[in-house]
Amino acid sequence: MPLGTGMLAGLRRIISIGTRKPVTFDYPEKPRPIAERFRGGVGMRRDALTGNSACVGCGLCETACPNEVIRIDTSEAADGTRWVERYEFDLGRCIVCHLCIEACPVDALQVTPAYRLATGNRTNLIITDDEMMTLWEHPEQALFDNEVSSNWARKSASIDKD
Ligand code: SF4
Ligand code: SF4
Repeated sequence: MPLGTGMLAGLRRIISIGTRKPVTFDYPEKPRPIAERFRGGVGMRRDALTGNSACVGCGLCETACPNEVIRIDTSEAADGTRWVERYEFDLGRCIVCHLCIEACPVDALQVTPAYRLATGNRTNLIITDDEMMTLWEHPEQALFDNEVSSNWARKSASIDKD
């Protein structure tokens, strides 16, 4: 083998690796595109007439959930009118089985493609119907974007220092 052939082959290999398109993504700064039919977090539909949550407080989702994710408090007037006082959803317990969505009689709960639900603080994971409506309307947004990004930036800075 002529002298330098191995070196040239190595150089060619380095150049080909260095110029090819990266297979990694700069997440969370640049989220990866997801499949069209991806089934992510549970969102809440907003009622077009009232502008509030479409939930009628029947409690069927709370009963259907196998993991005690949903907590609902309702009140009822003398004429039988019912309204939701509190709707809480613990993202940290949700296994994304979507049984609650199947149980909902008014389609208030909806499948969304939302997956950017990470946070550094577990207490943030208990969200309300307001945040669930945000998930339904803006599933592409990170629910806790600032906190995760700043945690990420802090970690990167400390790694750079080390
Ligand atoms: S998706 Fe499944 S685990 Fe999550 S709240 Fe609905 S029923 Fe419960
Ligand atoms: S099943 Fe639907 S309407 Fe009934 S409490 Fe749950 S979200 Fe509200």
